[in-house]
Amino acid sequence: MGRLAGKRVIVTGAGSGIGRASVLLFAREGASVLAVDRDEDALAEMVSDASACGGAILAHPADAGCETDVQNYVARAVSEFGGLDVIYANAGISGGLVPLLEQAVELWTEILRVNLVGAFLAVKHGAPVLKASGGGSIICTASVAGLRANAAGAPYSASKAGVISLVQTSANALAGTGIRVNAICPGLIETGMTRPLFEAARARGTEGRIGQLNPLGRAGSPDEIAATALFLASDESSYVNGQAIAVDGGLSST
Ligand code: NAD
Repeated sequence: MGRLAGKRVIVTGAGSGIGRASVLLFAREGASVLAVDRDEDALAEMVSDASACGGAILAHPADAGCETDVQNYVARAVSEFGGLDVIYANAGISGGLVPLLEQAVELWTEILRVNLVGAFLAVKHGAPVLKASGGGSIICTASVAGLRANAAGAPYSASKAGVISLVQTSANALAGTGIRVNAICPGLIETGMTRPLFEAARARGTEGRIGQLNPLGRAGSPDEIAATALFLASDESSYVNGQAIAVDGGLSST
């Protein structure tokens, strides 16, 4: 029996990096997973790779920051699986490292729309369905950047600090429904989002310095974040609620 046997799960940002690793792990642990991403090709590739692990994975192209799309992905999960137990709102964009005073309003608006409003919409439209299924777990991917701001990535940091606040307020607002809401705050993880950073460091021969700011002295892998998401999705975390869990090699404690 897998650790998510019988669980019906939605994962957003499922086509790459942390979301992809989470879908594959959740499916291996027995979950039925609706994999949501706006990149249809990445979704198709992920589902084809996943056929080897034998899990039940359905691809659903959608924009995680668009309310109609969120309503549709929740409705699709209910119609395919007969209910819902877990939502992992993981889709996110970084916006790059633009100096603070050169950041356009459009950059702020788009990052907040995808990272923060997208997480809110997952809570807003997912919670009633989780409640109807007898409770469940909502997980959001925040970031160490939400715990420690970085001026160059100001809209990203603000969006992730907002996600942590959303998780805390949601955990309280949903008290009595049987729904737990938690955030994961990854440190530096090698994914599609951070690939340019890693490639530039490799080209300079400085890849050994990446991640040295944390006590473990290395970057993390998507699988190391997926392992925490698995814990939060499973009943093993039944008393964990309203938390922002840093999975960052210790960076946030330095
Ligand atoms: P990634 O770029 O590899 O994957 C993100 C996925 O989200 C992509 O497949 C992309 O197509 C999808 N996506 C983006 N916007 C979307 C939208 N509007 N609707 C639907 N799908 C959308 O990046 P990742 O590192 O795996 O990022 C996953 C989450 O982890 C993000 O929320 C990110 O902010 C967070 N995070 C990443 C790191 C890191 O170092 N990689 C650190 C902290 C937090």
